[in-house]
Amino acid sequence: MEPYVKITANDDVTQIPSFQQGFNRRWFAENLQAIYLCYTGEGVAAALEDAISLYGRNVKIKGGGHCYEDFVYNASTMAVIDVGPLGEVGYDEEKGYYLDAGGTNWSAFKVLFRDYGKVLPAGSCYSVGLGGHICGGGYGLLSRLNGLTVDWLTGVDIAVKPDATQPAKNVYVSMDSVGAEENLFWAQRGGGGGNFGVISRYYFKTLPDAPQRALITTVSWSWSDLTVDNLFALLNAYADFASQPDNWNQFGLFKLNHSANGEIQLVLQTALQNTLTERDLREKAVQDFLDDLFKICPHRIPQNPILGFAGAHIHPSSAPTVDYTFYEAVQTLNGSGANQRGKYKSAYMRKAFPYKQVATLFEQLQIIPDGLTADDMKQSLLQVDSYGGIINQVPSDATAIAQRSSIMKLQYQTYWTFEENDPAHLEWINGFYAAMYADTGHVPNPDLDPTDNVDGCYYNYCDSHLNDVVGRDGALRLYFLTNLERLVDVKNQWDPNNYFNSRQSIPTSLGDC
Ligand SMILES: Cc1cc2nc3c(=O)[nH]c(=O)nc-3n(C[C@H](O)[C@H](O)[C@H](O)COP(=O)(O)OP(=O)(O)OC[C@H]3O[C@@H](n4cnc5c(N)ncnc54)[C@H](O)[C@@H]3O)c2cc1C
Repeated sequence: MEPYVKITANDDVTQIPSFQQGFNRRWFAENLQAIYLCYTGEGVAAALEDAISLYGRNVKIKGGGHCYEDFVYNASTMAVIDVGPLGEVGYDEEKGYYLDAGGTNWSAFKVLFRDYGKVLPAGSCYSVGLGGHICGGGYGLLSRLNGLTVDWLTGVDIAVKPDATQPAKNVYVSMDSVGAEENLFWAQRGGGGGNFGVISRYYFKTLPDAPQRALITTVSWSWSDLTVDNLFALLNAYADFASQPDNWNQFGLFKLNHSANGEIQLVLQTALQNTLTERDLREKAVQDFLDDLFKICPHRIPQNPILGFAGAHIHPSSAPTVDYTFYEAVQTLNGSGANQRGKYKSAYMRKAFPYKQVATLFEQLQIIPDGLTADDMKQSLLQVDSYGGIINQVPSDATAIAQRSSIMKLQYQTYWTFEENDPAHLEWINGFYAAMYADTGHVPNPDLDPTDNVDGCYYNYCDSHLNDVVGRDGALRLYFLTNLERLVDVKNQWDPNNYFNSRQSIPTSLGDC
């Protein structure tokens, strides 16, 4: 097999338009000249060398293509290094489990689970690429129990070009590396894709055992029954659930849908090992939690399909809680949704929502922007994921993910179809966010929060609009907090010529943008 195949825009190849766009239909690389399909790790380094020699800093890396912003596909993109063809999963006696960077959450899960009974505590949407997901700190429904993907990461193969006069080369950096290589490895543990080089393979000396079964609970509350007071109480109870130490095998997705959707929805996954006693205990714990919530506000079985992580539909059953085999549970929750236009924003929270924020979100989730209809807002929501658990037992500087004391992670989302509706959706979501963080500079800036609640943003839920509010350095500070300086050092060591760049890439110095 060729190490890589290069296709140029002039080739008569039917795939060209599909190579110019990823999952978010807002982004398109209209000036793309070349795609490098990489079939081996050596191919990645060779492709990178060829691409940089021809296109300089206009070379982008594509894993699964699920970047929320235009970091891969934009007007300046001349070449794309596509690691998609790299899809091996296996076990190496010396380096442990390995996952090629071109795989997806689903392809990795299938092999790790089937052949080894292991899992990566990654996201649930099947089509998300490991390329950007893991190095950005990927998390999912097992993360309260097992931590972040990067907490298990022990090595990577990465193609780098630190010296413009030398060809790009592959390096293996790991937990055992020292000096500059140790720094490079550290940066792959949450410092994000598109910053330092092209990862071809991830290694994990060990991985968590897969659960045997999982309970999935789905309930909803009608918007017609909601008030600021009972929503505040529901969210308080949820924050309490997220902060408890004895339920880390449970993960919640609380979808505060726009009122146009008619209802807000809670999905809970309870991962189980095999004993019947454990199952009974857990079922009781789930029921006790639901009873507490139902006392606050009457619930119902969801009337609408539940929106998954990013627009996917989970079809609820007629019973609130269903006992699944673990494989079935992953299948049930693994939708990615349709390719649409989308905009996302994020925030970490260390405590429950203050009343004032609940009043704000209650109001914002009922706004129909000018030019849009209620139907247009049905897919707009604030998703509140439970977080914490074992994630918070890792020191803030052990990996590039600094947020190690949050109990909830928020994702603001809105989806739509037509370009003409871009301004209205963007204005709504940006305004919603600014209103939520009015007291902390319109962003979740922990330095401006005397209550020690908000704790910045998540790089994998990238949001270019932060640059407009607090500048690029300010945005990077929100993502990486006190780890930002070390990432800048790594950038200088491994990509001083800034070949790997985007509107929110790690710069070679702070304060110059
Ligand atoms: C439907 C959906 C569901 C999601 N669910 C979750 C979730 O449950 N949990 C979670 O943590 N996140 C989730 N995310 C966010 C996701 O983790 C990020 O969008 C991630 O960056 C996507 O990686 P990718 O390889 O698919 O994307 P790409 O667009 O290919 O890449 C994203 C970034 O990483 C860079 N990159 C890609 N591959 C490599 C590589 N091999 N080497 C170096 N840099 C690379 C790209 O240049 C780009 O800057 C979700 C996103 C979507 C769209």
